[in-house]
Amino acid sequence: MAMLKLSLAFHVLAFVLFLCFTMSTGSYQYFQFVQQWPPTTCAVSKQPCYQNPPSIFTIHGLWPSNYSKKAWVANCTRTRFNNSLAPKLEAKLKISWPNVENANYTEFWEREWNKHGTCSEQTLDQEEYFQRSHDIWNAYNITNILKKANILPNGAIWNYSDIVSPIKTVTRKMPALRCKPDPTKPKNHKISHQLLHEVVLCLHYKGRALIDCNRTACDNNLKILFQ
Ligand code: AMP
Repeated sequence: MAMLKLSLAFHVLAFVLFLCFTMSTGSYQYFQFVQQWPPTTCAVSKQPCYQNPPSIFTIHGLWPSNYSKKAWVANCTRTRFNNSLAPKLEAKLKISWPNVENANYTEFWEREWNKHGTCSEQTLDQEEYFQRSHDIWNAYNITNILKKANILPNGAIWNYSDIVSPIKTVTRKMPALRCKPDPTKPKNHKISHQLLHEVVLCLHYKGRALIDCNRTACDNNLKILFQ
């Protein structure tokens, strides 16, 4: 009986320690690598963009995520953004991960690191987090993949599967799309489409191998406008 109690106490203690560990470091199961179409970011943004947005898919963020209902984990540790990225990496990020809302490019990186990056710090430190994001962006050029499939930002309307299919062919894994309501349509207007905003690639916990994504942020019943 004493042994049983001891064993039970040991298991409870181990569980409590595990809970403390995951709560302090932030736990996640996989990454969502989110690339955005900046003209849509600007079209839906509350504040106007400070200049014409680039017409290439750029990074929004690398988000440690869980399969449970909430799409991602956030604000996990007190580590704050340290403005000390290697100058070579900074120069690359200005192209792959631009701030489209204002000219302060580090402000967007800072927000993304503090909110998302801190949740995968046990896997990628700050420099690795930004370097890895740039490398994934470079490895899977969504702009080119869609261009080769004749999916161009010309105002044509697509089915969800039309857009994910060429990306899946190249990456061999299921991507996910994120869409936004068209802000030019009045609220009570009979809406027939949504705007293509973001393309998500999902990655294994370590942030290297791609895996299938299993959630979308588009309305299944609406077609998708790419402009
Ligand atoms: P998140 O908190 O990572 O979901 O990011 C959402 C916020 O990021 C929103 O307030 C957007 O306006 C902002 N945002 C998204 N993309 C950009 C961008 N390229 N530059 C600046 N802000 C952005």
